[in-house]
Order: sequence, then structure tokens, then C-alpha cells
Amino acid sequence: MNHRVYIGIGSNLGDRERNLFAAVGALRRMDTVAVRRCSSIYESAPVGPPQPRFLNAVVEVDTALPPLRLLSCLKQIEADLGRVRRKRWGPREIDLDILLWVGEVIAEPQLQVPHLELHKRRFALEPLCELAPDVEHPVTGERMCELLQRLAPQDCVKCAGPDSLFVADAD
Ligand code: ADP
Ligand code: MG
Repeated sequence: MNHRVYIGIGSNLGDRERNLFAAVGALRRMDTVAVRRCSSIYESAPVGPPQPRFLNAVVEVDTALPPLRLLSCLKQIEADLGRVRRKRWGPREIDLDILLWVGEVIAEPQLQVPHLELHKRRFALEPLCELAPDVEHPVTGERMCELLQRLAPQDCVKCAGPDSLFVADAD
């Protein structure tokens, strides 16, 4: 479990909060991933075509999996939670993105980490900065809190505290 990784989770279809809980639950049941902490839940305006608002959060995990293996596990969780593949940028029951792999740059055709939009998105940086404000971007060396400070205002509001994902998921 020697890599620290931050996973962004989002939902804008169905019972959004339940979908986030289910994603955290699925991560916690993986024996190749140790879930350490979860951020608060934020509600944000969608990027792309008109669609319902999103709930977003970030999960801090440790894993020994190689990046592409973790990505395929995340895609399996999306499928298990009923995500239907629609057009890119479209609405989704659940989305799990690898936002940041501490100290690593991953540039594969099917996986780019840090996530290419991370520095532009308040709905990713705001929850990430609750957990990892001082972690550096592995390319630019900037801290996550510096990236967040540079962002223009965006429609993204905290709507549940940092314990809500963990407590509600306890089983
Ligand atoms: P979105 O970009 O809106 O999250 P999808 O969830 O449909 O779109 O993902 C499309 C593809 O993005 C995935 O099949 C995956 O291979 C690729 N991808 C590239 N970088 C990442 C990343 N950092 N995390 C998750 N998926 C990624
Ligand atoms: Mg995705």
C-alpha cells in the first residue's frame, strides 16, 4: 500500500448522495486499496451540455496497484454501480477519476495523471485541498492550495461535512 492517490468521485443522476456512498463503500471493500479519508461533499454546476448538478467529493487512498490496474478497478466499480456509458461530458450515475498520484506523472493513452483538468476545476480542487493542500503538482511543483487560490469563482458549494461519507457508509 505504498502509493498515496486521490480519487475524485462525482454523480449527477439518480440518488447522487447514495451513489457517492456506494463508490466509497466499493473502494473500502477492495483489499488492494486502503481508504484513509474522505472530503466533504460539494454540489457543483455541470461542465458541458445542460444536465443536472453534480455532487462531488475526493477520497484519499493508499494502494500498491499499478496505475492502469487501479483505473480498471475504478471502471469496474462504475459499471457495478450502474453507470451507463453515454457521450463524453454527459450525465453519469457515478464517475471515479484518478486526480493525483503523489510524486508521479502518468502519461498513457488511456490515463493521464494528474488529471488534465484538475487545475481548472473547483469541484475537484476544493475537496482535494481539504485533504492534501500541501501536496505538490508533480509537473509544476505548485501546491494544491496554490492552484485553488488561482481559480476564478465557480459555482461549487459545500453541502455536507467531511464525516458524512465515512459515517453513512459504515457497515
Ligand atoms: P470523463 O473524462 O468525463 O471522466 P469518462 O469517465 O467517460 O469521462 O472517462 C473517459 C476515459 O478517460 C476513461 O475511459 C479513461 O481511460 C480516461 N482517463 C484518462 N485519464 C484519466 C484519469 N486521470 N482518471 C480516470 N480516467 C481517465
Ligand atoms: Mg471519468
